[in-house]
Amino acid sequence: MRRTDVLQTPGGGQCRGHAATHAAMRRDRQTKIVATLGPATSDAATIGRLVEAGADVFRLNYSHGSHDDHAARFNLIRDLERRIGRPIGIIADLQGPKLRLGRFADGSVTLHPGQRFRLDRDPLPGTADRAPLPHPELFAAVRAGQRLLLDDGRIRLRVTATEPDCIETRVEQGGGISDHKGVNVPDAVLDLAALTPKDVEDLRHALGLGVPWVALSFVQRPEDVIAAKEEIGGRAGLIAKLEKPSAIEHFQAILAETDGVMVARGDLGVEMPPEDVPVLQKRIVRACRRAGKPVVVATQMLDSMVQAPIPTRAEASDVATAVNEGADALMLSAETAVGRFPVEAVAMMDRIMRRVEHGDMHREILDAVSHQPRPTAGDALSRAARQVAETISAVAIVTCTASGSTTLRVSRERPPVPILALTPIASTAHRLTLSWGVDALEVVTHQEFERMIAASVRCAASEGLARVGDPLVVIAGLPLMTPGTTTTLRIVTVGDDDIADPAP
Ligand code: PEP
Repeated sequence: MRRTDVLQTPGGGQCRGHAATHAAMRRDRQTKIVATLGPATSDAATIGRLVEAGADVFRLNYSHGSHDDHAARFNLIRDLERRIGRPIGIIADLQGPKLRLGRFADGSVTLHPGQRFRLDRDPLPGTADRAPLPHPELFAAVRAGQRLLLDDGRIRLRVTATEPDCIETRVEQGGGISDHKGVNVPDAVLDLAALTPKDVEDLRHALGLGVPWVALSFVQRPEDVIAAKEEIGGRAGLIAKLEKPSAIEHFQAILAETDGVMVARGDLGVEMPPEDVPVLQKRIVRACRRAGKPVVVATQMLDSMVQAPIPTRAEASDVATAVNEGADALMLSAETAVGRFPVEAVAMMDRIMRRVEHGDMHREILDAVSHQPRPTAGDALSRAARQVAETISAVAIVTCTASGSTTLRVSRERPPVPILALTPIASTAHRLTLSWGVDALEVVTHQEFERMIAASVRCAASEGLARVGDPLVVIAGLPLMTPGTTTTLRIVTVGDDDIADPAP
């Protein structure tokens, strides 16, 4: 990303050039859109159209595709970013210990309710009576009476007996099953490493590219998050994907360790009853909002748009619900990775979000979730920034931030005005793309406070957020841009001098 050098210009610089494009690309909404890239969306033109339609963050799904595929997509995103001057977020989503059956001799079989079916360590292709299960750790973990779910829960087996090399089951819900279908074990905590050897390779690759976010699949315990963070070593933020009952059980401890959370409703809805998913989603979003950590609601949000140019009414309502809950971001998966209407899906999500956010009920619903600020200067000032902005009808809150923590705190307040985050650190701008209401901009900063404030105002003006006479709330730390030093709140009014001359 090219830096906007407005804050370097002594006595009167403006956000110009690519920053003007940045301003033009600013969203008229606060909830962010994450779009998964895949075979349907891997060329520069399509990625550009996705951003134009509203994508704020892209997901590189390491469950599919090669390292070269992901590197090519990463480079296309960063090229585009340089052209439009708008930071674009990227999440590298690691596959995690996804369990899968082996192959069948004829490619598939049909299982009937009541029949016996064995899963074993024999690598020979499967039949109607048995199938290979190439995951040794499962044989020691499961117990008689537990459920095994195949193919996203379409088939349910009940374990009747276990031996070191095989699991005997009875089919409770039958159907067709084919090679390599997924296996879910909702009733057992599996002794699986947080990162598989493939994940470690993929993680190195993603960190080598410079992704700002990494998502960890099938988190079971806080130790999984701690291990992954150790491996990441501060080079990216970590999103814990919640998709297992054990993660729900340890949710508070996981939340304390992670930088962000994804409600991964695909596997969560397999491992837990579907009727539990909406309740859990609400609880998780609320807890993340209170903790001030970004939360993404994912999977099947506009699923019918994989095949059709318009969504169902129920899908539109699902998006609206997550927006009203105050989630930071909503994610599209197959809709944009392999769907027939990827750009339309993003545009549709953007339209639903804007309609909901501009509706007269939204603010009331959003504010129904409150939190107690922690007893720190940063929390107190962030709460005050929202109150001041409301009292004086400020047009925006500008946060000058190094690590992004000041901006996260302000975002946690869910203020009714845009949050413009100015940071000298590209990775901070990239991470903040996921956060509710935040428009991040990488800038070269001043060390002198008054000049920094003046430059912030000019930047807000040239971003199109403020006009002459408009009040702004600026929040910063002293010494400037030092992490963890949010100590200053200033009300400033935009003057004639702050408005950009027409760009040459
Ligand atoms: C999910 O299960 O909802 C999810 C987002 O994970 P994945 O797409 O990696 O299965």
